Amino acid sequence: MILVNAPTPFYQFENLRKFSDRVTHFISTRNYNNDSRFTIGMNEYLSEKGVIANRQILANQFNFAPNSYVFAEQVHGNIVEFINSQKRGMGAFSKSTALPHSDAMITHLPDICLVAQAADCVPILFYDPVNNAIASAHAGWKGTVLKIAGEVVKSFQKIYNSKPNDIIVGIGPSIGPCCYEVGDEVVERVKESFQNTDKLVISNPKFSKPVFNLWEANFETLVEAGINPKNIEVANMCTKCNNTEFFSARAGDRGRFGGFIMIKS
Ligand SMILES: [Zn+2]
Repeated sequence: MILVNAPTPFYQFENLRKFSDRVTHFISTRNYNNDSRFTIGMNEYLSEKGVIANRQILANQFNFAPNSYVFAEQVHGNIVEFINSQKRGMGAFSKSTALPHSDAMITHLPDICLVAQAADCVPILFYDPVNNAIASAHAGWKGTVLKIAGEVVKSFQKIYNSKPNDIIVGIGPSIGPCCYEVGDEVVERVKESFQNTDKLVISNPKFSKPVFNLWEANFETLVEAGINPKNIEVANMCTKCNNTEFFSARAGDRGRFGGFIMIKS
């Protein structure tokens, strides 16, 4: 990932940047004009009006209309929703109109900006350049063990007849193996979902309990789904360690940053 300095600084995946003529994508940060409360999530951390204003600032910066956004309810499941033109704008201006029940979205339609909100969970962005289709996913530990990243790949295959080998993926900033100590319930679920957990559940001298490596788990899920490892870019940025740039629930934040992706018209 690279940091781009702008009025609202943002990150971009280098593998997705290559398609900048066709796709707009970015990872927002918590900073804007010396204020570190630049949240894009409607969870009462900032007023709904304030969040809409922040979303408008990002839309202006990337030159699209704020009713292009689609925000999902994000329920820590693994449902992938196809976004047609009727769903454009869902959740853009209020929490109650967010796309219900889902954590991932897929579309080929232009001017629809898919958003994965996060503050330790993993935002994942997808692009199939052959079919010019995009997807977003929000993967916390639950979505990760439910292999939501693999469900997105299946949706590409089902809807667009995509070849997994063509799909480009960016695994965004989230809580890293440096900080993500987890309890027995998580460890059990990881062991149920993954055959080999050697690189997923690791002991860390900082903690009494093991850590769960969300980045590696999502990477392995994608490879298992047929994605070429060379086409996966992992940000390798921990939200808690990089708390001045990203919101982190474990650091006590209630704001949200996001992964955004949109096909240009
Ligand atoms: Zn960390």
